[in-house]
Amino acid sequence: MGDRDLNLLRAVAEIGRLPGTRITALSGFYDTEPVGDVPQSTFLNAVLRLETSLSPRQLLAEFQRIETAVFRRTRDVPWGPRTMDLDILLYGGLVLEEEGLVIPHPRLHQRRFVLVPLAEIAPEVVHPLLSRRADELLNDLPAGERVTKV
Ligand code: ADP
Ligand code: MG
Repeated sequence: MGDRDLNLLRAVAEIGRLPGTRITALSGFYDTEPVGDVPQSTFLNAVLRLETSLSPRQLLAEFQRIETAVFRRTRDVPWGPRTMDLDILLYGGLVLEEEGLVIPHPRLHQRRFVLVPLAEIAPEVVHPLLSRRADELLNDLPAGERVTKV
């Protein structure tokens, strides 16, 4: 919601300021049809790669702090419109399944709006559970929601 370009740029800037963290790649911004049944306007999505000394838990806590404190995100409709959604897709080759934190992100391989920008910056990155590269996962995906680089 809101000025989507500005919001994404702001999120990138905030992530770049996290302690012990450096952004090493950023995809283009992609306009995406919503997935699911909530009627709403299109989303703007991007993927970034970072090097960090933060643990997965610390990184998730920082992402949630940015969603809440910087973007005043409130959780109204699940899957509905929001000012910002920051997810951890992969964390190196780590596999983790804990209360409130699952890595790789459980829907990563099903979502065109994730795989398109991911394959742009890291086509060769391997999904540690599926043992498939990002570009292969994208090629395997049936035609779905429209994802357009802006
Ligand atoms: P979604 O991202 O699925 O649209 P939310 O952003 O509201 O929905 O996230 C719901 C919960 O997902 C968060 O409270 C968080 O604890 C949990 N979660 C589990 N794994 C991850 C992950 N890899 N990245 C981000 N959140 C995650
Ligand atoms: Mg999220």
